[in-house]
Amino acid sequence: MEFFSAKGGSASGGEKRGHKIMPSSSLLPKDDSSVLLTTAGMQQFKLYYTGEKDPIKDFGCRRTVSIQKSFRTSDIDSVGDETHLTFFEMLGNFSFGDYFKEDAIKWAWEFITGELKISPERCYVSVFEGDSDVPEDKESIAIWKSLGLSDDKIKKAGRDDNFWGPTGDEGPCGPTTEIYINGIEIWNIVFNEYYQYPDKTLKPLKQKGVDTGMGLERLAMVVQNKRTIFETDLFEPLIQAIPHSDVENETRAVRIIADHIRGSVFLISDGVLPSNIGAGYILRRLLRRAIRYGKVLGLEKNFLIPLAQKVMEMYKESYSELSIKREDILTVIQKEEEKFSKTLEEGIKVLKKIYNRAIGGIDPENLPKGMIISGNVIRINGAEIFHIYESYGLPPELSQEIMTGWGISFDEQTMKECEKAFKKHQELSRTASAGMFKGGLADASEETIKYHTAAHLMLAALRQVLGEQVSQKGSNITPERLRFDFSYNQKMTPEEIKQVEDLVNDKIKEDLPVKMEEMTFEEAKAAGATGAFESKYGERVKVYSINNFSKEICGGPHVKHTGEIGKFKIIKEESSSAGIRRIKAIVE
Ligand code: ATP
Ligand code: MG
Repeated sequence: MEFFSAKGGSASGGEKRGHKIMPSSSLLPKDDSSVLLTTAGMQQFKLYYTGEKDPIKDFGCRRTVSIQKSFRTSDIDSVGDETHLTFFEMLGNFSFGDYFKEDAIKWAWEFITGELKISPERCYVSVFEGDSDVPEDKESIAIWKSLGLSDDKIKKAGRDDNFWGPTGDEGPCGPTTEIYINGIEIWNIVFNEYYQYPDKTLKPLKQKGVDTGMGLERLAMVVQNKRTIFETDLFEPLIQAIPHSDVENETRAVRIIADHIRGSVFLISDGVLPSNIGAGYILRRLLRRAIRYGKVLGLEKNFLIPLAQKVMEMYKESYSELSIKREDILTVIQKEEEKFSKTLEEGIKVLKKIYNRAIGGIDPENLPKGMIISGNVIRINGAEIFHIYESYGLPPELSQEIMTGWGISFDEQTMKECEKAFKKHQELSRTASAGMFKGGLADASEETIKYHTAAHLMLAALRQVLGEQVSQKGSNITPERLRFDFSYNQKMTPEEIKQVEDLVNDKIKEDLPVKMEEMTFEEAKAAGATGAFESKYGERVKVYSINNFSKEICGGPHVKHTGEIGKFKIIKEESSSAGIRRIKAIVE
């Protein structure tokens, strides 16, 4: 979709009406604990709608435009149809107490029918019909009419379809008007007029705002005259890279794999690691579901790696974080694939045992000819399904999906019981990561987080012992060890190694808090933060500091207190290449 020069996730073109181009924010929302992942473009601007932040001060104007990396867990089961993805790019323009319905609608229409030359014949729109709390959106109806749309092209709908937000429990929200092309929703224009509280009451906002969201992939589909998102140039090369034939169930499997690997690459590049909680669990589900569909297609071991490489190649120019995190992304995917591939078959065997208990001795994947099993609801103890996750790594949602494919559904209790067992398990692993059970239950991703923070301490220690000229040249972290490259042109003496080790261990013993602050790249540099790479001018970055000892620009995640790391030990110091030394270290 070359139309958008989405360099660094910012939109060109919008600027001409005085919008400030803003880069995409991370998929992991900053300063917003109400949502797990970024689901829409407006999220990074929430506080400008509520008036808590001043757009003039931050942007010099009251309007912005962005291409936002978005992720919708709620759509995971729809992936495979023509129009739904988990990860997608959302084009948006935003007004904070500036232009409102008239301009927003006119410009949207002009863009679709004027700039993209899509025939108005192919379009219809929807508006909010009103309910007991919010009146019908007569103003938008009048504006659409003034643009030449007839009554039958202006459909009215209620809360479920034409009222947006808030994201999370509370926040800005309001009526929407949507543009459909060939019967598919392409663009949602939200008029933020209210603030919704957790008890669902609405209060008018002091200033009115506009928030629009248009999926780039869906737009590509209509512009390129394709039947599905997966046939556009945003997916075609990736789909081609997955060996398959075009029979129906393979098509769905291929789409799921393509979507999930794309989503995984972007999640990892924003600092998400597979785990049992939160965003980490979403990533784990994506990767494991993709691996399972890979097995269905009979794909070779490690088939995800070339696909991840393909995704990075396709998006490297627009999203520099993909190249910066390249090694991490590939390592994380490979580890997850190696770990899960080994146990997946075993997990499925146990599922088959449960199935046979209910249905009798048949193999659900090789039903006798002519035999169809469907619609059976059976009672399975949720703890059993959780046990399959714990022992064989099969996420409960995936077990459920596999069973459904065999014609059996769990009853309502099953998933509830499973969730209960899961929560208990998550609490335990959280306690473990907080260092309360030393050497206890911490899983792979929690280990890598420890190494991540240890790397920051080590860089600071190296700079203290060897001099400020030392800078990081690369790092590679697995749950077992840290590999760290830095600029320095001679071999470290045993004394220097010991000094660095001691310094890091002292900081661990002091159990210092790890603090995160957000600021612009320039502010971070001015504050003396180290950082292995250059960011774009004006870009907001996270800075992690550990007392006055370490200050680094970094995407995270990190432990909360250094005491969680354990004992730090350098096991090797060697030359990596000219002027670059390499350290291997472990924590115990
Ligand atoms: P739908 O009802 O089709 O799921 P939605 O109402 O959830 O769409 P919005 O929340 O209004 O969509 O999001 C704004 C725009 O983002 C949509 O008009 C569409 O272009 C795009 N979009 C939303 N969800 C997805 C998705 N899962 N995959 C790809 N694009 C999406
Ligand atoms: Mg939706």
